[in-house]
Amino acid sequence: MVYLDNNATTPLDPQVIKAMADFMPTHFGNPSSLYPIGRKVKEIINGGRELIASVLGAHRSEIVFTGSGTEADNFAILGVMDALPDKREFITSAIEHPAVLRTGQYLEKKGYKVTYVPVDSQGVVDLDFLSDAITPQTALISVMHANNEIGTIQPIEKIVEIAKKKGVLVHTDAVQTFGKIEVNVDKLGVDLLSISAHKVYGPKGVGALYIRKGTNIYPFVHGGHQERGLRAGTENTIGIVGFAEAVRVLKERWKKDKERVEKLALKLKEGIEAKIPQVKFNGHPENRVKSTLNFAFPGLEAEAILLALATKEIYVSTGSACSEESEEVSHVLLGIGLKPEIARSCLRFSLGRFNSEEDIEIVLRELPEIIAKLRSISAFHPEEA
Ligand code: PLP
Repeated sequence: MVYLDNNATTPLDPQVIKAMADFMPTHFGNPSSLYPIGRKVKEIINGGRELIASVLGAHRSEIVFTGSGTEADNFAILGVMDALPDKREFITSAIEHPAVLRTGQYLEKKGYKVTYVPVDSQGVVDLDFLSDAITPQTALISVMHANNEIGTIQPIEKIVEIAKKKGVLVHTDAVQTFGKIEVNVDKLGVDLLSISAHKVYGPKGVGALYIRKGTNIYPFVHGGHQERGLRAGTENTIGIVGFAEAVRVLKERWKKDKERVEKLALKLKEGIEAKIPQVKFNGHPENRVKSTLNFAFPGLEAEAILLALATKEIYVSTGSACSEESEEVSHVLLGIGLKPEIARSCLRFSLGRFNSEEDIEIVLRELPEIIAKLRSISAFHPEEA
């Protein structure tokens, strides 16, 4: 199997599996219980919190565990909007993950004004547009650190600079950058930041929200006093242990992984460009998460390519896993100005820690053949591309 869909999810790191397996049989106590087996679990969770905080450059009291990256995004946005009831405006970008976009749509239904800032052809948000959209009514700006489909990295520091001058809070969805490039809350200057375990070789169903000390935010799940009363519910202890172990592994090896994975991605990019005529690369040429490659194969439906690759046990994606099951054309690809028929021809290759040179060689052997075959049976005219 050649797995090139690491932006959708990553395999569990063996060390993560071991940490969870070692934890499960003995540490079943409820972290809220006052006797030793409960207290021990609480201690372990807080150790994980401390570790994740340290990697982000945060304090452990600023980390709240959530049920996913999606929940962290929802919590950041709805929690801030609820805490600032006099401010009725929210700003985000046009190419966010559905976790943010649909939360924006929900706010619109509740009567808020939501502005979706457009991006240029490389996927970078229009800073002038963003700046002009801010009013005294604006509570929060949420712009993703890097896009999940094309990898473009946003100028978060600049957004923060603009926002701070006008007293507006900033959230960033760092689900696709955490573990791939440096993510430091002080360097970015953000007030809130979302991450997710299953994108960094940890388990699915656990994420975290960084909330800068002093940020005005309303609780997201109401109930017990867990997570300082901000996100009630007995903690996903096994998931948190796995998340923390994944981050421990990241801390040791992310720089080495980054170098190796980026080299493999470059080899794949150059190979595709050299071997397949009429491909178009999507995203920023430089300022992007380099393990993400998005290509248009004009004249073809991406789904046909995806399925043909799957018969060879090569797994890629047509966009974000969340929109894959719907017929919708990717809002990200439309957002960077692609025509719908070109957007429908785009495939994402996302590499990760467990990819090898051999994986890339297999793809570079199989993909050109598949494209040539599919084009020969479609009505593809290169001059229309
Ligand atoms: N934000 C981005 C940019 C993502 O890529 C994803 C997952 O694809 C999410 C949020 C959602 O994270 P989770 O799958 O943990 O809900």
